This record gives sequence, structure tokens and C-alpha cells, in this order.
Amino acid sequence: MAMVEISYDKRNNETVDKYCDCGVYGRNSILEKASGVVALPKGDPKGCGSDPVYNRNSSSPPWIALVKRGNCTFSEKINGAKRQGAAGVVVYNMDGSGNHTTHMAHSDATGIVAIMIGNFQGMEIVRLVINGTDVRMLIDLGSPHGLWMDTYWLYFLSIAFFIVTAASITYFVFISANRLYSLNAHRRTERKLKSEATKAIRRLQVRKLKTGDEETTSDSHMCAVCIESYKAGEVVTVLTCDHIFHKACIEPWLLQRRTCPMCKCDILKALGVDEETKESLSAESPPEVTVITVTGGEPMYEVPLTDPESPDPESHQHRYDNGAFDRDSMAGRR
Ligand SMILES: [Zn+2]
Ligand SMILES: [Zn+2]
Repeated sequence: MAMVEISYDKRNNETVDKYCDCGVYGRNSILEKASGVVALPKGDPKGCGSDPVYNRNSSSPPWIALVKRGNCTFSEKINGAKRQGAAGVVVYNMDGSGNHTTHMAHSDATGIVAIMIGNFQGMEIVRLVINGTDVRMLIDLGSPHGLWMDTYWLYFLSIAFFIVTAASITYFVFISANRLYSLNAHRRTERKLKSEATKAIRRLQVRKLKTGDEETTSDSHMCAVCIESYKAGEVVTVLTCDHIFHKACIEPWLLQRRTCPMCKCDILKALGVDEETKESLSAESPPEVTVITVTGGEPMYEVPLTDPESPDPESHQHRYDNGAFDRDSMAGRR
């Protein structure tokens, strides 16, 4: 793009200064500044022929030729003006083309500033010059990096936008997939645990309380789920930790949590339900010793546990957590 600045004095000595980024340098133009007084060809405004004559004051040295497009090649017009000593050539577009400009090709006319401007702009200057106004013109490189910068930025922004969008979509897809996966895994685990709990519940000892049973006589015995004391005739479930609860109270609880509400012992572990290879065993008398093992390892030490109501929760924990091993060790001993 070429910046075109014109200035002239009106009759009342007021100076008019007009400026626009409306010129286009020719393909073979030198990309430099040029300035001077605008001169029109005598007669034909198109400035064709090898030696067109220009209407100009020979005392005003730098001058700019303003010619109309048409009749001959751009090169011919430019060379004609160049031969006459013009500092630059401005070609304005044909009538009816509005302010449209083209990127002139003039490979035979180089070494001079040559630009094209729109018809309206050209005609406006022509009228001023014909009326005897001295129009000074400055041609300069328009917005320095103009088109190139615009294109560069457009590419840069497009690529940046694309990368950001792609990254966001990838992230979103990844997060969604991850969530979906963990949700499914969680559901599967829940389902498995529930079915194991059902199995475990079936193996728990169930008793019907009779009049005179310790649980019905003492107020210190009550179901921790419903906080009611036991009455004769009620059905209770005995957990692996020997804690008893109403059968109707404890079963929904165990389905959900799989642990004793009193001591948190895990009935799945205690019954060995989570290790499907273990053979199911009928309820036996509570084991009197427990064997602590490391996974897959040898028995390490034995802890005698004679009192199931031992106040030490640690020993409870050991024993219940390893109920499955208890039975194994018992079986091995027998
Ligand atoms: Zn209850
Ligand atoms: Zn318990």
C-alpha cells in the first residue's frame, strides 16, 4: 500500500491537507518516497506515446505525473513521464471503477516510483489542477508492514486459536472419559461388594432369643442400630465379632457398609468372602487364637484372645481382620 498525501492552497489562502492509504505501488516500482507538484499531460490525460508533453512549470523541479489508465501499457505511460523527468508517476483508474485499484505490472518501466490510485481520487486532483491549483503530492510507504503484518498476524492468531481449541477439546474429552471410567469402576466395585456382603450375611449365625437369655435380661445389651433392648422371641444376628444385633436391623446396614457398627470389624474379611478360593465353613466356635500373617507369608506371631469382650480394640481388630486365617490355621492344626 502507498500512502498518498495531497496539499493545496485554497483561494482564501487556507491550506487543505488530505491524506489516504489509498495508493498501490506497482509491481516494478521502487518502494520509496516521492514528492512533487502534480502535473497532467497536455491533451490526452492518458499520457501515452513516447514523448507525452506535460503541463508544468519548468521552474518547479520535482513533479509527479498524474495519468489516466487506458489506451497503452502502464510501462509506456511510466516511461514517458520518466523521460520527461518526473519524480514519480500516479496512474488513476478508469471512469466507472470507483475507488478500485489494481496492482500494476510494468516490467519495462523500472527505477521510478509508480503507484495506482482510484478513479475518484484521481479525478478530484485532476479537477483541482485544471482549475489552476498547485497540488503538492507526497507518496510514501503506507502503514509500514501493512499487508505483510496483517497476514502474519492472521496466521498467528488462527494457529493460536486452533491450538487453544484443540487443547481444550482434548482436555475435556480426557476428563470426561476419565470420569466415566472411574464411575463405572466404582459401580462395578459397589455391585461386587454388595453381592459379597449378601454372601457374608448368609453365613452369619442367627439366633432366636429365648426368655431367660442373658441378652433379654440385662439392660446393658441393646441393638446399636435401633437402640432398643432385646426381647424374647426376637431374631438376632451374631457377627463374627460376637456383637449381636436385630437381624432386621443389621442386614441393611451390612449391605451398605460391611462392618460391625460397634467395632468396625469387616465381616467380608472375617468370613473370607473376599477370597473366593476359600471354602465356605459352617459356623464354628469362636477361635481362641489368632495368627497374624503378612500377605502370602508365614505366620509371624500368635496372640491369645480368650475374652471376646476384651476392651482392647487393637486385639479385636487383629482377630477379626484375620478370621479367615484363623480357620486355616485351626484346620491345619487338626
Ligand atoms: Zn435393632
Ligand atoms: Zn463388633
